[in-house]
Amino acid sequence: MSEPLVRLRGVEKHFGDLHVLRGIDLDVMRGEVVVLLGPSGSGKSTLCRTINALEGIDAGEIRIDGTPLPTTGAELARLRADVAMVFQSFNLFAHKTVLENVTLGPVRVRGLAPDDAADRALALLDRVGVRSQADKHPSQLSGGQQQRVAIARALAMDPKVILFDEPTSALDPEMVQEVLEVMLGLAQDGMTMLVVTHEMTFARRAAHRVVFMDEGRVVEEGSPADFFAHPATERARAFLSGRP
Ligand code: ADP
Ligand code: MG
Repeated sequence: MSEPLVRLRGVEKHFGDLHVLRGIDLDVMRGEVVVLLGPSGSGKSTLCRTINALEGIDAGEIRIDGTPLPTTGAELARLRADVAMVFQSFNLFAHKTVLENVTLGPVRVRGLAPDDAADRALALLDRVGVRSQADKHPSQLSGGQQQRVAIARALAMDPKVILFDEPTSALDPEMVQEVLEVMLGLAQDGMTMLVVTHEMTFARRAAHRVVFMDEGRVVEEGSPADFFAHPATERARAFLSGRP
């Protein structure tokens, strides 16, 4: 058995009195696409944020490619290059061009020469279909274009895994598909991905495994075919049928 790329064991997280993650065990294998589902407030975003150390944990263990999460500044920057994250709200640098948004990390963190970083960035912008926007600023782009830039920026770091936290939830409906298509392409190219989403069609098409969380616990997991056809728990059945 190969070592999981992402491995969580017994992860606990509190916010004050609120017990948000309750003994999370989760593996993501190399090349695997895991879709994380669950009701609002179940701890999905917090879980993603612990994996690239945006949130600390109270107990348990997280390993990336066999190595425990670092705690010092320089190592954290490298961790966040290895474990890229794409947020609901894009989080692009507003005062930088699209191209600069994609070259900044590779130059600063990976030590690429600026010209090499620009060549790579243009190729990645081409891959996500926004190369013609390279010299614009983020606010001049549509939401769907901005999110595709954010994906190019994540890819530019040559990450081991990309975490997506509801990447299409802030988009106008007509822009959801263009972002999902890019993500589907990455999945087909073998990128390791952990994806929080409510897009069930994407989950069915792209996921190797679905993990369902409720109240800070992994309640159920399985193949998309099994999970959607035969959810084992009442909580998952209620979630899938849209009951609160
Ligand atoms: P999800 O992404 O599944 O909707 P979250 O991980 O965002 O869930 O939140 C889980 C719970 O933790 C919620 O009750 C939320 O209000 C709470 N929470 C999240 N972040 C913080 C924080 N920084 N401080 C206090 N409570 C938080
Ligand atoms: Mg969330």
